[in-house]
Amino acid sequence: MASTFNALKLAEEQIADLDQQLLKRKLRITTSPCDTKAVVGDRELKAFCSNDYLGLASHATIAKALAEGAQKYGVGSGASHLISGHSIAHELLEKRLASFQDGHIPKARALFFSTGYLANLTAITGLMRLAPQNNASIYSAKLNHASLIDGVRLASAQTHATVTLFDHTKLDALIEKLKKDTSALKLIVVDGVFSMDGDLAPVKTLLAIAEEYDALLLVDDAHGFGVLGKQGHGILELENISSDRIIYIGTLGKAAGVSGAFICAQDTFIEWLVQKGRPYIYSTATPPAIAHALLKSLEIIESDEGQARRAHLHRLIDIWQQEMHFSRWEKISSCTPIQPLILGSNANALLTAQLLDEAGYWIPAIRPPTVPVGSSRLRITFSANHSEDDLRALINTLQMIEQHVIEKNG
Ligand SMILES: *Cc1c(COP(=O)(O)O)cnc(C)c1O
Repeated sequence: MASTFNALKLAEEQIADLDQQLLKRKLRITTSPCDTKAVVGDRELKAFCSNDYLGLASHATIAKALAEGAQKYGVGSGASHLISGHSIAHELLEKRLASFQDGHIPKARALFFSTGYLANLTAITGLMRLAPQNNASIYSAKLNHASLIDGVRLASAQTHATVTLFDHTKLDALIEKLKKDTSALKLIVVDGVFSMDGDLAPVKTLLAIAEEYDALLLVDDAHGFGVLGKQGHGILELENISSDRIIYIGTLGKAAGVSGAFICAQDTFIEWLVQKGRPYIYSTATPPAIAHALLKSLEIIESDEGQARRAHLHRLIDIWQQEMHFSRWEKISSCTPIQPLILGSNANALLTAQLLDEAGYWIPAIRPPTVPVGSSRLRITFSANHSEDDLRALINTLQMIEQHVIEKNG
């Protein structure tokens, strides 16, 4: 029987409110594998919006490894890692992931998770539990990913750690705060590559600061792992830094093309998280077949093929930087395959995304709270499977659309 009750009424009102503010989001159903073309309904769109930077999400060899993994290990792990769910496939994957950070984290050990969200919650809440109550502080970059923000919120609710937000382009304020901080445990938390802007965190400077003020440095390299560094090992390889205070997070559903994430840190910190990291302990282990497929993906990332894919991505980034000069839309200086065009209002971003859709492109409008109010944007991303011609065609389309939008909305 139909009935109205308060929770339902509130939900209806608030969804209507989102719609009114042009903040309602829409699910679109694809029927094709993730690649540079996406079938949505009865249309094929050219997609420049996934995080499949190396073009591995539909790679035949990895798909074969996933099927092989399912044959070998079945489909489910059946339990959390500490009960009976930790397979040899997980163990081999963790060893291989740790080897990627050899030379950057002494005594590196890796812990595999089903998602980056879970890895971040575990790392931040778990590490904060090393400190006595009310005696820890967290320094978190303002533009950090939502999963880091939520990890910080949960950790501070549990341990009463103080939280300070900082601007990653102005580190003086961070240093001033740290100078006066007498907490037993300090943690600096930062995206390696900022997910909506595409710029890099100043990890070298942050590490020097962490060392000077006895803090841990957590770097979430969700968009750098597989992409940055000659071998694709990520931002620590690119910046050639090494320290036993680094807590490195990589995710495996973006450039690695599959699913999952990991924390890599020196063995003692990982052992602590195995003992006390609640989201790790109380969650069913990822299917071992996924770990098996990921081993193949890591092999490709390090191989000549991986290097060729990264080299091609860099050619695409160069073309973008050379050929987008005509644009009056604000760009952010980015050396990564994330290239945002800042459009300002929700209306402008939605209109532009709509015109792109009509021209056969899939690039959704990114709006608050994912990005700050007034900085709604198109977040354009490249894949190694895009050709130079694909990119040039997009640039031509953007040039026509920009003219149109500026005439219409200013
Ligand atoms: C995508 C992302 C995550 C979350 O990873 P999932 O595996 O998708 O849960 C975490 N941090 C950053 C910076 C991300 O972009």
